[in-house]
Amino acid sequence: MPGEPQADCLFCKIVEGQIPATIVRESDTTVAFRDINPQAPTHVLVIPKVHYENAAALAAAEPTIAADVLREAQTVADEEKLESYRIVFNTGAGAGQTVWHAHAHVLGGRGLEWPPG
Ligand code: AMP
Ligand code: ZN
Repeated sequence: MPGEPQADCLFCKIVEGQIPATIVRESDTTVAFRDINPQAPTHVLVIPKVHYENAAALAAAEPTIAADVLREAQTVADEEKLESYRIVFNTGAGAGQTVWHAHAHVLGGRGLEWPPG
């Protein structure tokens, strides 16, 4: 069922506390934790607690929770004292998506090139 925890999903396991993570924030609907392979001085992932395979699927099914993810990303940026930052939702293997549970990458703390690679 869409939105239900998936037994084989790494991020569902982090939500349920079955896999450790460096959690920086938690709300009723979201968890934010440090990426295990950071690509910038600040690299935090903000995920919904519910399981959807990407950001668009989350927004279609649970628009309020999709907005919660964006608000939490801003709060992470504030707490990390980032004046500028980037939110990335890799969608599809060709764009680098490797975990099929919607997540926002919050990247900052260094200059960020545009266009991205
Ligand atoms: P993506 O490639 O966009 O699907 O992003 C998945 C991200 O999850 C990658 O940046 C990984 O480094 C990160 N990641 C994978 N396993 C863990 C973990 N156990 N804890 C924190 N971040 C992780
Ligand atoms: Zn999941």
